[in-house]
Amino acid sequence: MFMEKFIVKKKFGQNFLKNDLIIEKIVNSIEVNHDDLIIEVGPGKGALTKKLVKKGCKVIAFEIDKDTYPYLKDLENDNFSLIYDDFLNIDVNSYLSDYQYHDLYIVANLPYYITTPIITKIIDDKLCPKAMILMVQKEVADRFSAKPGSKDYGYFTVKLNYYFAVEKLFNVKKTEFNPVPKVDSAVVSFKIKDYDKNLAKKFDNFIKDAFKMKRKTLKNNLGSDLFNKVLPILMEAGFGSDVRAEQIDLETFIKMVKET
Ligand code: SAM
Repeated sequence: MFMEKFIVKKKFGQNFLKNDLIIEKIVNSIEVNHDDLIIEVGPGKGALTKKLVKKGCKVIAFEIDKDTYPYLKDLENDNFSLIYDDFLNIDVNSYLSDYQYHDLYIVANLPYYITTPIITKIIDDKLCPKAMILMVQKEVADRFSAKPGSKDYGYFTVKLNYYFAVEKLFNVKKTEFNPVPKVDSAVVSFKIKDYDKNLAKKFDNFIKDAFKMKRKTLKNNLGSDLFNKVLPILMEAGFGSDVRAEQIDLETFIKMVKET
């Protein structure tokens, strides 16, 4: 088949995986049943997609770059839908409403420039995947699974860990991509937790405030009234009144939000 030369678009974060063993490893990181549904964000030239469609359940792929069509069109069948649009600007739930499925999974080698917005959308749109396997920059993977008190621990770490058990599975060298990006990557597993859905919005607002100004104490960021309400919980957890948000673990945050 004749295919025009593909021009890589940096603006779309295009770094295509070329190592088949790594592709296998990613795809084998999730186990699905035939009545489940997989979303892939950014199928590109189909490195992961080709193997995802063989898993036997339905797959929907969202891709922004129509020039990838020659590489993906042969995969289209009853179990595979390809949607050309900007994942960040679509109503994913309206696509999902066309499907009947048991569990949702999300698999992606994410475009690096919008890693956090994509994950935020998945959470805020309440897609509720049972699990996600996402390739991200190595430094970003470290931030996702950072421990309290470390330099990488921040608002997004706490937000993510409220919803998901986050685990870095393995690193991937930059030379495994074409074109070669500036930094190494890592594959991260996210498994949905039994989180309190009724508390989620309040929790998010609270941690946004708690981490508002990095150098300030929690008291400064929350204001005295709110801080005094949660102070007994902080003290019980062994923190002093000059504590900063980045020292506080997820469980203590949850206890504080329940108290407010
Ligand atoms: N999955 C392929 C692979 O592993 O080789 C490609 C991964 S590449 C890092 C990221 C892909 O996401 C590209 O195909 C890019 O065009 C696509 N992409 C970038 N921004 C997007 C967006 N807003 N919505 C959907 N796809 C996007």
